[in-house]
Amino acid sequence: MKKEKDEMTKKGVSRRSILKGAVVMGAAAMGGGLALNMATPGTAEAMVKKLPSKWDETWDVVVVGSGFAGLAAAAEAAGGGAKVLILEKMPTYGGNSIINGGEYNSWDDELHLREKLNLGNDSVELHKSDTLKGGDFYGFPDLVDVFVQGATPALNWMIDEGGCKLRNILNRTGGHTAYRTHTNVEGVGRGYTDPLKKIAEGRGAKIRLNTKLTWIWRKDADPKSPIEGVEVLAGSKTKNIKVTKALIMASGGFSRDKKMLREFNPGILDEYNCTNHPGATGETIRMAQAICADSLQLAFIQLYPYAAPDTGILDAPAVYPFRGPGYGIVYVNKLGKRFVNEMERRDVVAMAQIKTKMKPTYSIFCEAMIPKMGTKEEVEKGIAKGRFVKADTIGELAGKLGIPAKDLEETINNHNKYMAEGKDPEFGRQFTKVMIPLTQGPFYAIAQWPAVHHTMGGIRINKNAQVIDIWGNVIPRLYAAGEVTGGVHGANRLGGNATPDAIAFGRVAGINAAKEKS
Ligand code: ADP
Repeated sequence: MKKEKDEMTKKGVSRRSILKGAVVMGAAAMGGGLALNMATPGTAEAMVKKLPSKWDETWDVVVVGSGFAGLAAAAEAAGGGAKVLILEKMPTYGGNSIINGGEYNSWDDELHLREKLNLGNDSVELHKSDTLKGGDFYGFPDLVDVFVQGATPALNWMIDEGGCKLRNILNRTGGHTAYRTHTNVEGVGRGYTDPLKKIAEGRGAKIRLNTKLTWIWRKDADPKSPIEGVEVLAGSKTKNIKVTKALIMASGGFSRDKKMLREFNPGILDEYNCTNHPGATGETIRMAQAICADSLQLAFIQLYPYAAPDTGILDAPAVYPFRGPGYGIVYVNKLGKRFVNEMERRDVVAMAQIKTKMKPTYSIFCEAMIPKMGTKEEVEKGIAKGRFVKADTIGELAGKLGIPAKDLEETINNHNKYMAEGKDPEFGRQFTKVMIPLTQGPFYAIAQWPAVHHTMGGIRINKNAQVIDIWGNVIPRLYAAGEVTGGVHGANRLGGNATPDAIAFGRVAGINAAKEKS
Protein backbone atom coordinates (compact mmCIF):
# COMPACT_ATOMS: atom_id res chain seq x y z
CA MET A 1 0.00 0.00 0.00
CA LYS A 2 2.81 2.41 0.96
CA LYS A 3 4.63 1.62 -2.27
CA GLU A 4 1.48 2.28 -4.29
CA LYS A 5 0.99 5.58 -2.43
CA ASP A 6 4.58 6.68 -3.16
CA GLU A 7 4.12 5.85 -6.85
CA MET A 8 0.95 7.91 -6.96
CA THR A 9 2.54 10.87 -5.18
CA LYS A 10 5.40 10.74 -7.73
CA LYS A 11 2.82 11.05 -10.50
CA GLY A 12 1.36 14.08 -8.71
CA VAL A 13 -1.86 12.34 -7.66
CA SER A 14 -2.48 12.39 -3.94
CA ARG A 15 -5.28 10.46 -2.20
CA ARG A 16 -6.80 13.84 -1.31
CA SER A 17 -6.85 15.00 -4.93
CA ILE A 18 -8.51 11.74 -5.93
CA LEU A 19 -11.18 12.06 -3.32
CA LYS A 20 -11.83 15.74 -3.95
CA GLY A 21 -11.24 15.69 -7.70
CA ALA A 22 -13.66 14.45 -10.30
CA VAL A 23 -14.83 10.87 -10.61
CA VAL A 24 -12.48 8.42 -9.01
CA MET A 25 -10.71 6.11 -11.42
CA GLY A 26 -8.80 3.07 -10.34
CA ALA A 27 -9.72 3.70 -6.74
CA ALA A 28 -10.12 -0.01 -6.35
CA ALA A 29 -6.37 -0.25 -6.88
CA MET A 30 -5.91 1.56 -3.61
CA GLY A 31 -8.02 -1.06 -1.94
CA GLY A 32 -5.82 -3.79 -3.32
CA GLY A 33 -8.01 -4.46 -6.34
CA LEU A 34 -7.93 -3.32 -9.92
CA ALA A 35 -6.93 -0.26 -11.86
CA LEU A 36 -8.83 1.21 -14.81
CA ASN A 37 -7.36 3.62 -17.31
CA MET A 38 -9.83 5.34 -19.60
CA ALA A 39 -7.56 8.26 -20.56
CA THR A 40 -3.84 8.15 -21.35
CA PRO A 41 -2.38 5.44 -19.15
CA GLY A 42 0.22 6.50 -16.61
CA THR A 43 -0.88 10.13 -16.42
CA ALA A 44 -2.77 12.01 -13.75
CA GLU A 45 -5.61 12.49 -16.27
CA ALA A 46 -5.92 8.73 -16.43
CA MET A 47 -7.28 8.92 -12.91
CA VAL A 48 -10.17 11.28 -13.63
CA LYS A 49 -13.11 11.59 -15.98
CA LYS A 50 -15.02 14.86 -15.63
CA LEU A 51 -18.72 15.02 -14.80
CA PRO A 52 -20.76 16.25 -17.78
CA SER A 53 -21.59 19.95 -17.77
CA LYS A 54 -25.07 19.28 -19.18
CA TRP A 55 -27.47 16.34 -19.24
CA ASP A 56 -29.28 15.10 -22.33
CA GLU A 57 -32.15 13.49 -20.38
CA THR A 58 -33.43 13.10 -16.83
CA TRP A 59 -35.11 10.01 -15.30
CA ASP A 60 -36.01 9.14 -11.69
CA VAL A 61 -34.69 5.60 -11.87
CA VAL A 62 -32.39 4.07 -14.48
CA VAL A 63 -32.07 0.29 -14.58
CA VAL A 64 -29.18 -1.33 -16.47
CA GLY A 65 -30.24 -4.67 -17.96
CA SER A 66 -33.56 -6.18 -19.04
CA GLY A 67 -33.31 -9.68 -17.53
CA PHE A 68 -35.15 -10.99 -14.48
CA ALA A 69 -33.48 -8.57 -12.08
CA GLY A 70 -33.87 -5.48 -14.27
CA LEU A 71 -37.50 -6.12 -15.19
CA ALA A 72 -38.51 -6.89 -11.59
CA ALA A 73 -36.67 -3.78 -10.36
CA ALA A 74 -38.25 -1.60 -13.04
CA ALA A 75 -41.71 -2.98 -12.28
CA GLU A 76 -41.44 -2.18 -8.59
CA ALA A 77 -39.78 1.22 -9.07
CA ALA A 78 -42.50 2.21 -11.54
CA GLY A 79 -45.11 0.80 -9.13
CA GLY A 80 -43.66 3.12 -6.50
CA GLY A 81 -44.38 6.09 -8.75
CA ALA A 82 -40.94 6.59 -10.34
CA LYS A 83 -40.30 7.42 -13.98
CA VAL A 84 -38.21 4.42 -15.01
CA LEU A 85 -35.88 3.78 -17.95
CA ILE A 86 -34.33 0.36 -18.63
CA LEU A 87 -31.10 0.41 -20.64
CA GLU A 88 -30.38 -2.71 -22.67
CA LYS A 89 -27.28 -2.89 -24.83
CA MET A 90 -28.52 -5.80 -26.97
CA PRO A 91 -31.04 -5.51 -29.84
CA THR A 92 -33.48 -7.76 -27.96
CA TYR A 93 -34.67 -7.74 -24.38
CA GLY A 94 -34.16 -10.48 -21.76
CA GLY A 95 -30.43 -11.26 -21.52
CA ASN A 96 -29.63 -14.71 -20.18
CA SER A 97 -32.92 -14.75 -18.32
CA ILE A 98 -35.06 -15.17 -21.41
CA ILE A 99 -33.04 -18.20 -22.60
CA ASN A 100 -32.47 -19.91 -19.26
CA GLY A 101 -34.00 -23.27 -18.39
CA GLY A 102 -37.15 -21.82 -16.81
CA GLU A 103 -36.40 -23.39 -13.41
CA TYR A 104 -37.57 -21.59 -10.27
CA ASN A 105 -36.99 -22.78 -6.72
CA SER A 106 -39.62 -21.92 -4.18
CA TRP A 107 -40.71 -23.85 -1.16
CA ASP A 108 -44.35 -23.13 -2.04
CA ASP A 109 -46.63 -21.48 -4.62
CA GLU A 110 -50.26 -20.41 -4.71
CA LEU A 111 -51.21 -23.69 -6.42
CA HIS A 112 -49.52 -25.64 -3.59
CA LEU A 113 -48.03 -28.04 -6.14
CA ARG A 114 -45.86 -29.93 -3.67
CA GLU A 115 -48.81 -30.77 -1.48
CA LYS A 116 -51.01 -31.55 -4.47
CA LEU A 117 -48.42 -33.90 -5.97
CA ASN A 118 -47.69 -35.44 -2.58
CA LEU A 119 -43.96 -34.72 -2.75
CA GLY A 120 -43.11 -34.40 0.94
CA ASN A 121 -42.10 -31.45 3.08
CA ASP A 122 -40.25 -28.22 2.49
CA SER A 123 -39.81 -24.83 4.15
CA VAL A 124 -38.06 -21.49 3.73
CA GLU A 125 -35.51 -22.65 6.34
CA LEU A 126 -34.73 -25.84 4.41
CA HIS A 127 -34.33 -23.91 1.16
CA LYS A 128 -31.98 -21.54 2.97
CA SER A 129 -29.85 -24.27 4.55
CA ASP A 130 -29.59 -26.21 1.24
CA THR A 131 -28.50 -23.00 -0.51
CA LEU A 132 -25.84 -22.14 2.08
CA LYS A 133 -24.50 -25.70 2.15
CA GLY A 134 -24.61 -25.93 -1.66
CA GLY A 135 -22.35 -22.87 -1.83
CA ASP A 136 -19.89 -24.25 0.75
CA PHE A 137 -21.11 -21.57 3.21
CA TYR A 138 -19.55 -18.70 1.24
CA GLY A 139 -23.02 -17.21 0.70
CA PHE A 140 -24.09 -14.51 3.18
CA PRO A 141 -27.04 -15.76 5.27
CA ASP A 142 -28.76 -12.35 5.36
CA LEU A 143 -28.69 -12.16 1.55
CA VAL A 144 -29.88 -15.75 1.14
CA ASP A 145 -32.76 -14.90 3.49
CA VAL A 146 -33.98 -12.15 1.17
CA PHE A 147 -34.30 -14.42 -1.83
CA VAL A 148 -35.64 -17.58 -0.18
CA GLN A 149 -38.28 -15.49 1.60
CA GLY A 150 -39.01 -13.50 -1.54
CA ALA A 151 -39.22 -16.54 -3.86
CA THR A 152 -42.84 -17.57 -3.22
CA PRO A 153 -44.39 -14.07 -3.20
CA ALA A 154 -42.48 -13.23 -6.41
CA LEU A 155 -43.71 -16.39 -8.13
CA ASN A 156 -47.31 -15.66 -7.13
CA TRP A 157 -46.88 -12.04 -8.27
CA MET A 158 -45.83 -13.23 -11.75
CA ILE A 159 -48.80 -15.62 -11.86
CA ASP A 160 -51.36 -13.08 -10.63
CA GLU A 161 -50.19 -9.91 -12.37
CA GLY A 162 -48.08 -11.19 -15.25
CA GLY A 163 -50.07 -14.22 -16.39
CA CYS A 164 -47.21 -16.69 -15.74
CA LYS A 165 -48.31 -20.33 -16.02
CA LEU A 166 -46.63 -23.25 -14.28
CA ARG A 167 -46.41 -26.87 -15.38
CA ASN A 168 -48.03 -29.35 -13.07
CA ILE A 169 -44.64 -30.79 -12.08
CA LEU A 170 -42.05 -30.20 -9.39
CA ASN A 171 -38.49 -31.47 -9.38
CA ARG A 172 -35.88 -32.25 -6.79
CA THR A 173 -32.67 -31.10 -8.47
CA GLY A 174 -28.96 -31.44 -7.63
CA GLY A 175 -28.03 -30.33 -4.11
CA HIS A 176 -31.65 -29.81 -2.97
CA THR A 177 -33.24 -31.95 -0.28
CA ALA A 178 -36.82 -31.19 -1.34
CA TYR A 179 -39.02 -31.09 -4.47
CA ARG A 180 -39.07 -27.31 -4.98
CA THR A 181 -37.94 -26.66 -8.57
CA HIS A 182 -40.88 -25.22 -10.55
CA THR A 183 -41.05 -25.09 -14.35
CA ASN A 184 -43.20 -22.75 -16.42
CA VAL A 185 -45.38 -23.91 -19.31
CA GLU A 186 -42.94 -22.56 -21.90
CA GLY A 187 -40.09 -24.57 -20.31
CA VAL A 188 -37.72 -21.62 -20.74
CA GLY A 189 -36.96 -18.30 -19.00
CA ARG A 190 -39.27 -16.41 -21.36
CA GLY A 191 -42.14 -17.87 -19.30
CA TYR A 192 -41.06 -15.45 -16.53
CA THR A 193 -39.49 -12.56 -18.50
CA ASP A 194 -42.67 -11.96 -20.53
CA PRO A 195 -44.86 -11.67 -17.40
CA LEU A 196 -42.29 -9.38 -15.75
CA LYS A 197 -42.08 -7.20 -18.85
CA LYS A 198 -45.87 -7.02 -18.94
CA ILE A 199 -45.97 -5.84 -15.31
CA ALA A 200 -43.09 -3.36 -15.77
CA GLU A 201 -44.44 -1.81 -18.97
CA GLY A 202 -47.98 -1.85 -17.60
CA ARG A 203 -46.71 0.34 -14.78
CA GLY A 204 -45.06 2.72 -17.22
CA ALA A 205 -41.40 1.61 -17.33
CA LYS A 206 -39.69 2.09 -20.70
CA ILE A 207 -37.15 -0.28 -22.26
CA ARG A 208 -34.51 1.22 -24.55
CA LEU A 209 -32.70 -1.41 -26.65
CA ASN A 210 -29.27 -1.01 -28.31
CA THR A 211 -28.28 1.36 -25.54
CA LYS A 212 -25.14 0.50 -23.65
CA LEU A 213 -24.00 1.82 -20.29
CA THR A 214 -20.47 3.14 -20.77
CA TRP A 215 -19.89 5.05 -17.53
CA ILE A 216 -21.43 5.71 -14.12
CA TRP A 217 -21.26 9.33 -12.98
CA ARG A 218 -20.28 9.95 -9.37
CA LYS A 219 -18.54 13.14 -8.30
CA ASP A 220 -16.07 11.55 -5.92
CA ALA A 221 -15.57 8.72 -3.47
CA ASP A 222 -16.82 10.57 -0.41
CA PRO A 223 -19.32 8.23 1.31
CA LYS A 224 -21.97 10.95 0.97
CA SER A 225 -21.36 11.35 -2.74
CA PRO A 226 -24.32 9.89 -4.65
CA ILE A 227 -24.67 8.52 -8.15
CA GLU A 228 -25.41 11.47 -10.46
CA GLY A 229 -26.20 9.76 -13.71
CA VAL A 230 -24.91 7.57 -16.51
CA GLU A 231 -23.17 7.83 -19.84
CA VAL A 232 -24.62 5.63 -22.57
CA LEU A 233 -23.79 4.76 -26.14
CA ALA A 234 -26.81 4.48 -28.44
CA GLY A 235 -25.61 3.58 -31.92
CA SER A 236 -22.67 5.91 -32.42
CA LYS A 237 -24.14 8.61 -30.15
CA THR A 238 -22.96 9.21 -26.60
CA LYS A 239 -25.56 10.62 -24.21
CA ASN A 240 -25.55 11.61 -20.56
CA ILE A 241 -28.61 10.78 -18.50
CA LYS A 242 -29.25 12.36 -15.13
CA VAL A 243 -30.68 10.06 -12.46
CA THR A 244 -32.67 11.84 -9.75
CA LYS A 245 -33.56 8.89 -7.50
CA ALA A 246 -31.39 5.85 -8.17
CA LEU A 247 -29.38 3.74 -10.57
CA ILE A 248 -30.02 -0.01 -10.43
CA MET A 249 -27.36 -2.33 -11.83
CA ALA A 250 -29.05 -5.47 -13.15
CA SER A 251 -26.54 -6.17 -15.88
CA GLY A 252 -25.94 -9.89 -15.37
CA GLY A 253 -22.78 -11.96 -15.20
CA PHE A 254 -19.56 -12.25 -17.23
CA SER A 255 -19.58 -15.84 -18.51
CA ARG A 256 -18.90 -14.60 -22.08
CA ASP A 257 -15.98 -12.42 -21.01
CA LYS A 258 -12.98 -14.66 -21.65
CA LYS A 259 -10.57 -12.06 -20.27
CA MET A 260 -12.38 -11.75 -16.95
CA LEU A 261 -12.84 -15.53 -16.66
CA ARG A 262 -9.11 -15.99 -17.19
CA GLU A 263 -8.21 -13.20 -14.74
CA PHE A 264 -10.39 -14.49 -11.90
CA ASN A 265 -10.23 -18.23 -12.39
CA PRO A 266 -7.50 -19.76 -14.57
CA GLY A 267 -9.16 -23.14 -14.04
CA ILE A 268 -11.92 -22.05 -16.42
CA LEU A 269 -10.22 -23.04 -19.64
CA ASP A 270 -10.55 -21.06 -22.87
CA GLU A 271 -11.71 -24.18 -24.69
CA TYR A 272 -14.85 -24.55 -22.53
CA ASN A 273 -18.14 -23.80 -24.25
CA CYS A 274 -20.57 -21.28 -22.78
CA THR A 275 -24.37 -21.39 -22.37
CA ASN A 276 -24.81 -17.60 -22.21
CA HIS A 277 -26.03 -14.95 -24.62
CA PRO A 278 -23.24 -12.87 -26.21
CA GLY A 279 -23.95 -9.83 -24.01
CA ALA A 280 -22.85 -11.56 -20.80
CA THR A 281 -19.66 -9.53 -20.52
CA GLY A 282 -18.46 -7.88 -17.35
CA GLU A 283 -17.83 -4.24 -18.27
CA THR A 284 -20.42 -2.95 -15.80
CA ILE A 285 -18.63 -4.65 -12.91
CA ARG A 286 -15.47 -2.74 -13.94
CA MET A 287 -17.46 0.52 -14.11
CA ALA A 288 -18.87 -0.09 -10.64
CA GLN A 289 -15.37 -0.84 -9.32
CA ALA A 290 -14.15 2.40 -10.88
CA ILE A 291 -16.54 4.42 -8.73
CA CYS A 292 -15.40 2.49 -5.64
CA ALA A 293 -18.05 -0.24 -5.48
CA ASP A 294 -16.71 -3.31 -3.74
CA SER A 295 -16.75 -6.66 -5.49
CA LEU A 296 -16.32 -10.16 -4.14
CA GLN A 297 -16.01 -13.85 -4.94
CA LEU A 298 -15.26 -13.27 -8.62
CA ALA A 299 -13.40 -16.59 -8.89
CA PHE A 300 -16.58 -18.59 -8.26
CA ILE A 301 -17.67 -19.53 -11.77
CA GLN A 302 -20.17 -22.28 -12.50
CA LEU A 303 -20.13 -24.87 -15.27
CA TYR A 304 -23.55 -26.20 -16.34
CA PRO A 305 -22.97 -29.97 -16.50
CA TYR A 306 -25.64 -30.80 -19.09
CA ALA A 307 -25.04 -28.41 -22.02
CA ALA A 308 -25.02 -29.70 -25.61
CA PRO A 309 -21.49 -31.12 -25.98
CA ASP A 310 -20.58 -29.52 -29.32
CA THR A 311 -22.09 -26.06 -28.94
CA GLY A 312 -22.56 -25.50 -25.20
CA ILE A 313 -26.17 -24.53 -25.87
CA LEU A 314 -28.71 -24.86 -23.05
CA ASP A 315 -31.83 -25.69 -25.05
CA ALA A 316 -35.03 -27.37 -23.82
CA PRO A 317 -33.51 -30.92 -24.00
CA ALA A 318 -30.47 -29.80 -21.97
CA VAL A 319 -32.73 -29.14 -18.97
CA TYR A 320 -33.96 -32.76 -18.72
CA PRO A 321 -30.76 -34.11 -17.12
CA PHE A 322 -31.08 -31.31 -14.54
CA ARG A 323 -34.75 -32.05 -13.77
CA GLY A 324 -34.29 -35.82 -13.75
CA PRO A 325 -32.36 -36.77 -10.59
CA GLY A 326 -35.42 -36.62 -8.31
CA TYR A 327 -37.22 -39.11 -10.57
CA GLY A 328 -34.35 -41.57 -11.07
CA ILE A 329 -32.37 -40.40 -14.14
CA VAL A 330 -28.95 -42.11 -14.44
CA TYR A 331 -25.73 -40.52 -15.72
CA VAL A 332 -23.18 -42.74 -17.47
CA ASN A 333 -19.86 -42.27 -19.24
CA LYS A 334 -18.92 -43.60 -22.68
CA LEU A 335 -18.13 -46.98 -21.16
CA GLY A 336 -21.66 -47.26 -19.80
CA LYS A 337 -20.54 -46.75 -16.19
CA ARG A 338 -21.95 -44.33 -13.64
CA PHE A 339 -19.37 -41.78 -12.49
CA VAL A 340 -21.14 -39.64 -9.84
CA ASN A 341 -24.09 -39.47 -7.45
CA GLU A 342 -26.79 -37.99 -9.71
CA MET A 343 -28.24 -36.04 -6.75
CA GLU A 344 -25.07 -33.98 -6.50
CA ARG A 345 -24.58 -30.24 -7.07
CA ARG A 346 -23.59 -28.85 -10.43
CA ASP A 347 -19.93 -28.28 -9.55
CA VAL A 348 -19.53 -31.88 -8.35
CA VAL A 349 -21.24 -33.35 -11.44
CA ALA A 350 -19.30 -31.10 -13.83
CA MET A 351 -15.91 -31.97 -12.31
CA ALA A 352 -16.77 -35.69 -12.27
CA GLN A 353 -17.56 -35.46 -15.99
CA ILE A 354 -14.31 -33.66 -16.79
CA LYS A 355 -12.42 -36.28 -14.79
CA THR A 356 -13.85 -39.08 -16.96
CA LYS A 357 -11.69 -37.56 -19.77
CA MET A 358 -14.33 -38.97 -22.14
CA LYS A 359 -16.55 -36.37 -23.81
CA PRO A 360 -19.54 -36.63 -23.73
CA THR A 361 -21.39 -38.31 -20.89
CA TYR A 362 -25.06 -39.34 -21.12
CA SER A 363 -28.29 -39.10 -19.15
CA ILE A 364 -30.49 -42.19 -19.43
CA PHE A 365 -34.23 -42.09 -18.69
CA CYS A 366 -37.43 -43.92 -19.58
CA GLU A 367 -40.88 -43.09 -20.94
CA ALA A 368 -42.57 -42.95 -17.52
CA MET A 369 -40.21 -40.18 -16.39
CA ILE A 370 -41.10 -37.81 -19.26
CA PRO A 371 -44.26 -36.27 -17.74
CA LYS A 372 -42.33 -35.71 -14.50
CA MET A 373 -39.56 -33.78 -16.26
CA GLY A 374 -41.26 -32.14 -19.23
CA THR A 375 -43.57 -33.00 -22.09
CA LYS A 376 -43.79 -35.68 -24.76
CA GLU A 377 -43.97 -32.95 -27.39
CA GLU A 378 -40.66 -31.43 -26.20
CA VAL A 379 -39.01 -34.86 -26.31
CA GLU A 380 -40.34 -35.57 -29.82
CA LYS A 381 -38.95 -32.23 -30.99
CA GLY A 382 -35.62 -33.07 -29.34
CA ILE A 383 -35.52 -36.44 -31.14
CA ALA A 384 -36.20 -34.74 -34.48
CA LYS A 385 -33.30 -32.37 -33.82
CA GLY A 386 -31.03 -35.27 -32.93
CA ARG A 387 -30.72 -34.17 -29.30
CA PHE A 388 -32.50 -37.17 -27.71
CA VAL A 389 -31.89 -40.77 -28.76
CA LYS A 390 -34.75 -43.30 -28.32
CA ALA A 391 -34.69 -47.11 -28.25
CA ASP A 392 -36.94 -49.95 -27.11
CA THR A 393 -34.33 -51.64 -24.95
CA ILE A 394 -31.26 -50.56 -22.99
CA GLY A 395 -29.12 -52.79 -25.25
CA GLU A 396 -30.44 -51.09 -28.37
CA LEU A 397 -29.92 -47.65 -26.78
CA ALA A 398 -26.31 -48.60 -25.99
CA GLY A 399 -25.81 -49.62 -29.62
CA LYS A 400 -27.10 -46.24 -30.83
CA LEU A 401 -24.75 -44.41 -28.43
CA GLY A 402 -21.72 -46.57 -29.24
CA ILE A 403 -21.55 -47.86 -25.65
CA PRO A 404 -20.84 -51.60 -24.96
CA ALA A 405 -24.39 -53.00 -24.51
CA LYS A 406 -23.60 -55.45 -21.73
CA ASP A 407 -21.89 -52.76 -19.64
CA LEU A 408 -24.80 -50.32 -19.91
CA GLU A 409 -27.27 -53.14 -19.13
CA GLU A 410 -25.27 -54.12 -16.07
CA THR A 411 -25.10 -50.50 -14.86
CA ILE A 412 -28.85 -49.98 -15.27
CA ASN A 413 -29.71 -53.33 -13.67
CA ASN A 414 -27.49 -52.52 -10.71
CA HIS A 415 -29.04 -49.08 -10.34
CA ASN A 416 -32.56 -50.58 -10.45
CA LYS A 417 -31.51 -53.00 -7.71
CA TYR A 418 -30.05 -50.19 -5.58
CA MET A 419 -33.27 -48.21 -5.98
CA ALA A 420 -35.37 -51.21 -4.92
CA GLU A 421 -33.12 -51.76 -1.89
CA GLY A 422 -32.95 -48.01 -1.10
CA LYS A 423 -29.15 -48.02 -0.93
CA ASP A 424 -26.49 -47.12 -3.50
CA PRO A 425 -23.21 -48.74 -2.42
CA GLU A 426 -21.31 -47.17 -5.34
CA PHE A 427 -22.08 -43.44 -5.09
CA GLY A 428 -24.39 -43.06 -2.09
CA ARG A 429 -27.37 -41.77 -4.11
CA GLN A 430 -30.36 -40.78 -1.98
CA PHE A 431 -33.56 -42.53 -3.17
CA THR A 432 -37.12 -41.28 -2.71
CA LYS A 433 -40.47 -43.02 -3.05
CA VAL A 434 -41.38 -41.20 -6.28
CA MET A 435 -38.32 -42.37 -8.22
CA ILE A 436 -38.92 -44.61 -11.22
CA PRO A 437 -36.68 -47.62 -12.04
CA LEU A 438 -35.39 -48.04 -15.58
CA THR A 439 -37.22 -51.28 -16.19
CA GLN A 440 -39.89 -50.38 -18.75
CA GLY A 441 -39.02 -48.93 -22.18
CA PRO A 442 -38.89 -47.08 -24.40
CA PHE A 443 -35.63 -45.65 -23.11
CA TYR A 444 -34.01 -42.32 -23.93
CA ALA A 445 -30.54 -40.79 -23.78
CA ILE A 446 -29.09 -37.32 -24.17
CA ALA A 447 -25.42 -36.37 -24.51
CA GLN A 448 -24.16 -33.72 -22.09
CA TRP A 449 -20.96 -31.85 -21.25
CA PRO A 450 -20.08 -28.92 -18.94
CA ALA A 451 -20.10 -25.35 -20.27
CA VAL A 452 -19.49 -22.02 -18.51
CA HIS A 453 -22.85 -20.90 -17.17
CA HIS A 454 -23.01 -18.55 -14.17
CA THR A 455 -20.66 -16.18 -12.38
CA MET A 456 -21.45 -16.27 -8.66
CA GLY A 457 -19.25 -13.29 -7.74
CA GLY A 458 -19.91 -9.64 -8.47
CA ILE A 459 -20.78 -6.32 -6.87
CA ARG A 460 -21.16 -6.30 -3.08
CA ILE A 461 -24.66 -5.45 -1.83
CA ASN A 462 -26.48 -5.48 1.48
CA LYS A 463 -29.92 -6.95 2.12
CA ASN A 464 -31.57 -3.73 0.88
CA ALA A 465 -29.82 -4.27 -2.49
CA GLN A 466 -27.70 -1.16 -1.85
CA VAL A 467 -24.21 -1.26 -3.30
CA ILE A 468 -21.37 -1.15 -0.78
CA ASP A 469 -18.10 0.67 -1.45
CA ILE A 470 -14.57 -0.64 -0.83
CA TRP A 471 -14.57 0.98 2.63
CA GLY A 472 -17.86 -0.62 3.68
CA ASN A 473 -20.18 2.37 3.14
CA VAL A 474 -23.41 2.38 1.16
CA ILE A 475 -22.96 4.25 -2.14
CA PRO A 476 -25.93 6.65 -2.14
CA ARG A 477 -28.51 6.05 -4.88
CA LEU A 478 -26.82 2.91 -6.22
CA TYR A 479 -28.51 -0.51 -6.12
CA ALA A 480 -27.72 -3.87 -7.71
CA ALA A 481 -29.57 -7.16 -8.15
CA GLY A 482 -29.20 -10.48 -9.93
CA GLU A 483 -26.14 -12.13 -11.42
CA VAL A 484 -24.14 -8.89 -11.38
CA THR A 485 -24.00 -9.15 -7.57
CA GLY A 486 -21.83 -11.46 -5.47
CA GLY A 487 -22.21 -13.12 -2.10
CA VAL A 488 -25.63 -14.76 -2.52
CA HIS A 489 -24.77 -18.20 -3.89
CA GLY A 490 -21.29 -18.69 -2.48
CA ALA A 491 -18.90 -21.10 -4.19
CA ASN A 492 -21.62 -22.92 -6.15
CA ARG A 493 -25.14 -21.84 -7.07
CA LEU A 494 -27.81 -24.49 -6.75
CA GLY A 495 -29.72 -24.87 -10.02
CA GLY A 496 -33.06 -23.04 -10.04
CA ASN A 497 -31.90 -20.44 -7.49
CA ALA A 498 -30.78 -17.75 -9.97
CA THR A 499 -34.29 -16.76 -11.02
CA PRO A 500 -35.79 -16.23 -7.55
CA ASP A 501 -32.56 -14.48 -6.48
CA ALA A 502 -32.70 -12.02 -9.39
CA ILE A 503 -36.42 -11.37 -9.09
CA ALA A 504 -36.56 -11.10 -5.30
CA PHE A 505 -33.56 -8.74 -5.14
CA GLY A 506 -34.78 -6.85 -8.22
CA ARG A 507 -38.03 -6.15 -6.38
CA VAL A 508 -36.20 -4.99 -3.24
CA ALA A 509 -33.97 -2.69 -5.32
CA GLY A 510 -36.95 -1.25 -7.22
CA ILE A 511 -39.05 -0.62 -4.12
CA ASN A 512 -36.14 1.10 -2.34
CA ALA A 513 -35.10 3.08 -5.41
CA ALA A 514 -38.60 4.56 -5.77
CA LYS A 515 -38.49 5.67 -2.13
CA GLU A 516 -35.30 7.72 -2.62
CA LYS A 517 -35.86 11.49 -2.43
CA SER A 518 -35.24 13.26 -5.75
P1 ADP B 1 -30.10 -11.26 -14.52
O1 ADP B 1 -30.52 -12.71 -14.56
O2 ADP B 1 -29.22 -10.95 -13.37
O3 ADP B 1 -31.28 -10.35 -14.65
P2 ADP B 1 -29.44 -11.20 -17.37
O4 ADP B 1 -28.20 -11.71 -18.00
O5 ADP B 1 -30.69 -11.94 -17.67
O6 ADP B 1 -29.16 -11.03 -15.82
O7 ADP B 1 -29.69 -9.71 -17.84
C1 ADP B 1 -28.68 -8.74 -17.84
C2 ADP B 1 -28.88 -7.81 -19.02
O8 ADP B 1 -28.00 -6.70 -18.88
C3 ADP B 1 -28.58 -8.45 -20.36
O9 ADP B 1 -29.68 -8.32 -21.21
C4 ADP B 1 -27.38 -7.67 -20.88
O10 ADP B 1 -27.36 -7.53 -22.27
C5 ADP B 1 -27.55 -6.33 -20.18
N1 ADP B 1 -26.30 -5.55 -20.08
C6 ADP B 1 -25.08 -6.01 -19.70
N2 ADP B 1 -24.16 -5.02 -19.77
C7 ADP B 1 -24.82 -3.90 -20.18
C8 ADP B 1 -24.42 -2.58 -20.47
N3 ADP B 1 -23.15 -2.18 -20.39
N4 ADP B 1 -25.37 -1.70 -20.87
C9 ADP B 1 -26.68 -2.08 -21.02
N5 ADP B 1 -27.09 -3.35 -20.80
C10 ADP B 1 -26.19 -4.24 -20.38
